[in-house]
Amino acid sequence: MNHKIRELLSEEEVDNRIRQLGEQITKDYEGEEIFLVCTLKGASFFACELAKRIALPLTLDFIAVASYGDGTQSSGEVRMIKDLDESIEGKNVIVVEDIVDTGRTLSYLMEILKKRNPRTLKLCSLLDKPERRVVDIQADYTGFEVPDLFVVGYGLDYAQRYRNLPYIGVVESEG
Ligand code: 5GP
Repeated sequence: MNHKIRELLSEEEVDNRIRQLGEQITKDYEGEEIFLVCTLKGASFFACELAKRIALPLTLDFIAVASYGDGTQSSGEVRMIKDLDESIEGKNVIVVEDIVDTGRTLSYLMEILKKRNPRTLKLCSLLDKPERRVVDIQADYTGFEVPDLFVVGYGLDYAQRYRNLPYIGVVESEG
């Protein structure tokens, strides 16, 4: 089954914005080391591109949480699938996320990480859907605000497909 995908943010727009975010983070953390926490699977494309644009000593680790839901809606119940390999105690942690939607997944994850005593803990999300927020959470670094539409590409999936699109698109119809 194929879907019609309408482009929302071009490959060039996304790449340029990631470059800007990398430069901003490089400036904000000057003289420091960064521990980048990539949430699987959606943020992996973004995290790798962002890491390449941060000109500071950097470690990359992965974490996976899942929220139960019907595919396009999260239910609010979250569980840990894969934990980090390394301790974050005393480190400058930046959580890299694909999209903040209701905010439930992130608030669960940030609470867990906060308890592990990082030196600093910030959130960087490629996309933000502020209209959909249920939990009060705001990213420290945001790539783009998007409207309340189901988006795919650049790591984001629809039933595990379309992660490999180099741009951000909206699933319009099935055909
Ligand atoms: P939240 O807990 O903020 O509601 O949901 C966050 C997670 O839901 C994201 O990490 C992402 O995996 C998924 N999600 C939310 N909105 C979208 C969307 O528009 N497209 C895709 N592909 N996933 C989404």
